[in-house]
Amino acid sequence: MKLRFLGTSDGIPGLHRANSSILLQNSAGKGILIDCGEPVAATLIRQNVDLNSIESVVMTHLHADHSGGFTELIQTFQLRRREAPLTVYMPAEGIEVFTTLLRTIYIYRSIMPFELTILPIEAGKTVHAGSFTLDFYSNEHLAVYRPIAKKEGYPAPCESFSVAVRAEDTRAVFSGDLKYPDELLTPLQEKTDLLVSELIHFPTSTFAAVAESRLPGKIVFTHYRNTPEGEPVDAEDAILKNMACPVEFAYDLTEITY
Ligand SMILES: [Zn+2]
Repeated sequence: MKLRFLGTSDGIPGLHRANSSILLQNSAGKGILIDCGEPVAATLIRQNVDLNSIESVVMTHLHADHSGGFTELIQTFQLRRREAPLTVYMPAEGIEVFTTLLRTIYIYRSIMPFELTILPIEAGKTVHAGSFTLDFYSNEHLAVYRPIAKKEGYPAPCESFSVAVRAEDTRAVFSGDLKYPDELLTPLQEKTDLLVSELIHFPTSTFAAVAESRLPGKIVFTHYRNTPEGEPVDAEDAILKNMACPVEFAYDLTEITY
């Protein structure tokens, strides 16, 4: 299995980092995109990725740094005459909005060259998505917005998910954005070859305590604090350096094989 980090920023795109998006590919070259922060379509094309090879897209939550490249991605698929069907998994609260948005920007289903299916993510349900098997885990990353949304008369459920991807006898967990690192305890209950985790919403010590208790084969960080030069602030953190499994900080276009 191969991971290509298309965007690893901390939420704000910088000179060296684009917004969150990761392409996971199996040995046959079939792929799944985890999040589609900007400029995912441009990066896929610059990296010469076969657009037909992407079977599905997972949007872990609707924050723009994870979802902002979606419409451009679909338009690019349309203009490049992608033909393979595409399934998109996103929080239920986004489906009507994004379906309307696609229509509003003239991406009509009847003239699209490929079949697009948008499905709600359901925590606790196992999903067979082309070459990949997905397990979703709900987290409270967006819970802070619930009272605000209610006060403004828009009582959104504020859904956010982590996802485990199984393929070719491997299992990788993608944290998405979290509120607490404890939210990784359930996804890490099963044997995990690779954990791809954010590292910006909590201190390294609390993350390490959780990860050590359910140790994965390897940890790769994305969406972490970085300097204006794009370097990881916590690269020399003693707690992370002393973890009992290999730890790596991803950069844009980093490739990981597992
Ligand atoms: Zn977020």
